[in-house]
Amino acid sequence: MTPEELLAYDAKHVWHPYSSMSNPQTMLAVESAEGVYLKLTDGTRLIDGMSSWWSALHGYNHPKLNQALIDQSMKMSHVMFGGLTHEPAVTLAKKLIDLTSDNLQHVFFADSGSVGVEVSIKMALQFWQAQGKTQKTKLLTVRNGYYGDTFGAMAVCDPVNGMHGMFSNVLAEHIFAEAPATTNTEWKAELIDDFKHQICKHHKDIAAVIIEPMVQNAGGIRFYHPDYLQQVRILCDQYDVLLILDEIATGFGRTGTLFAYEQANIQADILVVGKALTGGYMTLSAVLTSKKVVEGIEADGQGVLMHGPTFMANPLACSVANASIDLLIESNWQENIQAIENQLKEELAPCRQLKCVKEVRTKGAIGVVELHESIDTVWSQPLFSERGVWLRPFGKLVYLMPPFIIKKDELSILTKAIFKVLEKVR
Ligand SMILES: *Cc1c(COP(=O)(O)O)cnc(C)c1O
Repeated sequence: MTPEELLAYDAKHVWHPYSSMSNPQTMLAVESAEGVYLKLTDGTRLIDGMSSWWSALHGYNHPKLNQALIDQSMKMSHVMFGGLTHEPAVTLAKKLIDLTSDNLQHVFFADSGSVGVEVSIKMALQFWQAQGKTQKTKLLTVRNGYYGDTFGAMAVCDPVNGMHGMFSNVLAEHIFAEAPATTNTEWKAELIDDFKHQICKHHKDIAAVIIEPMVQNAGGIRFYHPDYLQQVRILCDQYDVLLILDEIATGFGRTGTLFAYEQANIQADILVVGKALTGGYMTLSAVLTSKKVVEGIEADGQGVLMHGPTFMANPLACSVANASIDLLIESNWQENIQAIENQLKEELAPCRQLKCVKEVRTKGAIGVVELHESIDTVWSQPLFSERGVWLRPFGKLVYLMPPFIIKKDELSILTKAIFKVLEKVR
């Protein structure tokens, strides 16, 4: 296929995320990728500002990650996880247990972030069911959240931004508190009032709280107070409700700490990680949990967690995850992320002068320019490409989450492109 034939066939036959088949968007065809660069079939090289949706921490085509896959594929690419185990999975479990809070001692491997969220919800439901508290079937969450696209996850996504309208008659009904106030407002105790009210009123029906720690990601890239998260933990303990933290987007350094919950100095009962887990190489998620949750699930003496995907703990995915975690831990990740944060702060600041810009905010290796109106990506995409960058704004947000290995001058090209393109917005 020539590049033109490829794009024509794609437009006619291949679905892309959240897209129309009959009215396809323009696609760029990527031929290869290396470091922070995407190379298109027409030879153009673009600096990637997206890390392929929070995931490609070390950039693309990394020799150590490639080697981990090659080595593992020579041994075995996959074996079923029922009745069998293997070194890549056990090593990864140990790494995750060692890196996360002390209470988390058990790991369930799932296929994707969304499936990890499904498993975490199932754990919470089984926990109460096995202890005879069968009325505890609801989840409490906050507005503006995003937890994935499967049905269990969709049911806790923001009821307005999310897909509730489309699937309202089939989604489970859960309880929503107001979205946590962003760090623009100074913290005061009243900011938890609505959450407190909801948990107090409904706790007899609530199995778990699910929340993205410190940053609400796809639901608006909103940064909120550690105090809020601390209070959530306290209230969960007070009202006997489990706490599920979704670190799928924030995990592995993105917000400046290895995991975002560390900034609130709390522990989850159930923690879900995904996205950057394999350094952006392939799909894998992990659900970590405490002994308390395991004992709860097993309280009825039957004691089995009812989940087991075909490709559970895929050895290729686990091997590349092990290599990616090693690379991250051995690097000066804290310094790198701090440097990225400082540079984003400084270089995105000029965007504040632009009429179309409502707010500029940064946290760790995340930079956000929020506009007053949604940006037309059909209009903006060629402008970004001309400037040699890959950015994909979403709604009113033009955002950057570069690979941690990005160099100073490469990041400047990205921040400058944002300013130059937004200058043209009318
Ligand atoms: C992306 C994301 C998910 C879903 O992960 P998938 O791998 O796309 O299924 C869940 N929660 C959060 C916070 C995410 O950012």
